[in-house]
Amino acid sequence: MERIAIFPGSFDPFTIGHESIVRRAFSLFDKIFIAIGYNTNKRGFFPLEKRVGWIKQVFENDPQVEVNYYEGLTVDFCRKVNAKYILRGLRTAADFEYERAIAQINKAMYPGLETVFLLTTPEYTPVTSTIIRDIIRQGGDATKFLPNSVDLKTFRIEDLENE
Ligand code: ADP
Repeated sequence: MERIAIFPGSFDPFTIGHESIVRRAFSLFDKIFIAIGYNTNKRGFFPLEKRVGWIKQVFENDPQVEVNYYEGLTVDFCRKVNAKYILRGLRTAADFEYERAIAQINKAMYPGLETVFLLTTPEYTPVTSTIIRDIIRQGGDATKFLPNSVDLKTFRIEDLENE
């Protein structure tokens, strides 16, 4: 049977830390859906279409990856795409406490589901989408924390303000 995982997150934006988790999981799963959890009331910083487009570019040569977005419960999206695994990255003890509760609740809602955690590669531990957004808001250069194909040079902050 095909081992299908989803890697859910906001990916606002997708970072080298996220990319590393997905690539390391290639040996564990046959198919990985990178799925942006989307909430119409909390739209995020970068437009959804931009986030999806950037991630598609990162994995354009990796047929085992599919990029989607979903509204609603992660477990419902798992059922929809027949995923039996949720992939998550763990950076810190704080991540662990948060992730533990979500994973246990997801398991209670969908007993056939397992959450698989990969520990962050040490050099990526401090890379967070929140810090990257702050750098960008202040006009800084966040390139070194982003996959090569995530090209923020073509992205104008003024466009966001007009959203
Ligand atoms: P969420 O909004 O669900 O926290 P994120 O987009 O921030 O989503 O992160 C998605 C997943 O990627 C989470 O499991 C998070 O722990 C993991 N992650 C985020 N940054 C890193 C990193 N630098 N290294 C490894 N995993 C990471």
